[in-house]
Amino acid sequence: MIEDKNQQRTSLSSLGEFGLIQHLTQNIEITQPGTLTGIGDDAAVLDFKDKKVVVSTDLLVEGVHFDLAYMPLKHLGYKAVVVNLSDICAMNAKPTQITVSIAVSNRFPIEALDELYDGIKHAAKIYGVDIVGGDTTSSTKGMLLSITALGEADAEDITYRKGAGSTDLLVVTGDVGAAYMGLQVLEREKQVFQVNPNNQPDLDGYSYLIERQLKPEARRDIKEIFKALELQPTSMIDVSDGLSSEIIHLCKNSGVGCNLYEEKIPVDPQLINACEEFNIDITTVAINGGEDYELLFTIKQEDYDKIKANPNFTVIGHMTQESEGIHLITRANTKIPLKARGWNALTEGEE
Ligand code: ADP
Ligand code: MG
Repeated sequence: MIEDKNQQRTSLSSLGEFGLIQHLTQNIEITQPGTLTGIGDDAAVLDFKDKKVVVSTDLLVEGVHFDLAYMPLKHLGYKAVVVNLSDICAMNAKPTQITVSIAVSNRFPIEALDELYDGIKHAAKIYGVDIVGGDTTSSTKGMLLSITALGEADAEDITYRKGAGSTDLLVVTGDVGAAYMGLQVLEREKQVFQVNPNNQPDLDGYSYLIERQLKPEARRDIKEIFKALELQPTSMIDVSDGLSSEIIHLCKNSGVGCNLYEEKIPVDPQLINACEEFNIDITTVAINGGEDYELLFTIKQEDYDKIKANPNFTVIGHMTQESEGIHLITRANTKIPLKARGWNALTEGEE
C-alpha cells in the first residue's frame, strides 16, 4: 500500500561501496561539542570531559523486527534511531552521538537507502545527536540495520534497573499500548490491500495509534523534568517490550516485588475505541503491547509530591518485598501474577 511503483531505481552497484558511503553520508553535520572527528577516518574521536559515557546498540532484521510492506523506509530510519536514544534516556543520560550500520541486498535501489537515511538524519537532527560513523555492507537477503547510540551523564544522575526499594512508587510517563494497536490496524489494512489493491486504507480514527507505531519518540524531555523537580528516580527502564515485562526487569534487578493497579494504567481514548472494535482486552494490550518507548521508573514515597501534579507522570503501583511476588491488581480487586509475556489472550499456548 505504500510502495510507489513509479519511483526511480538506481542500482547499488553503480556507486560501489565507497561511492555509496560517500553518497549516504554527505551533508552530515556535526553539532555536538564533544564530537572532535566524525565520519571519514578509521574511527570517530569523542570528548566527554568529566561526564560518564553510556552506550547502547540494537540490531534490526527485515522480516523479524520490521516489515517494509507497511513501514516506509523513512519511518524505519527514524524509528531505528529513536529506539536507541530511548535506551540512553532510560539511563537518565543525554543522547549525543550515533553510529549506523547497514547490510542490504541488491534488491534495494539507492533511492531506497536515501529514504532510509532521510529518516535517520531527520531523527539525528530532531534529537541533536551527531552521526559519527557506521559500516556499509551487502546481504544475500533483505536488510539489516544496526544503530549504536552514545550519551553522557553526571555519574550521580545515571539511573539503573537495579535501584528500586521495596516501598517505592512505580511511575510511568505518557500512555501505553497505543503502538501495539497501531500495528494491529496496519496489519489489518495490509490484509485488506492484499485482497483488493484498489482499496484505500481506512485509517481515520487511528492516527495516534499509527503514529505511535510508525513514528515513536524517545522521552528525552524527562531528564530535564527530573532536574527541574530535583527528583532522582531509584530505578528506570524504557517500555520497549511491554509494561509487564519491564516491571519484571525492574523487580528482578532490584530484588523487590510489585503491585500494579489495572485502574491506574494510562491509556489513550483511541486505544479504548480500537480495542472495542478489535474485541481485544484493553489491559492486555496496555501491559503486553510494547514499543511505547515511555519511561518506567520508581521513586521514593517522600518524592510523591514532586510528581503528583505533573501531567507527564502516572503512579501505577508500588514496589513490595520480593517474597510478595509481582502482581496485577484488577479493577475487580483480584490479584493476578504478572508474567513477562502476558497473562491471557496475547500469549495463549506460549510460555
Ligand atoms: P573501514 O574500512 O575503516 O571500516 P569504511 O570505508 O567502512 O571504513 O568507512 C569509512 C567511513 O565512513 C568511516 O568513518 C565509517 O564510520 C563511515 N561509514 C561507513 N558506513 C557508514 C554508514 N552506513 N553510515 C555512516 N557512516 C558510515
Ligand atoms: Mg567499514
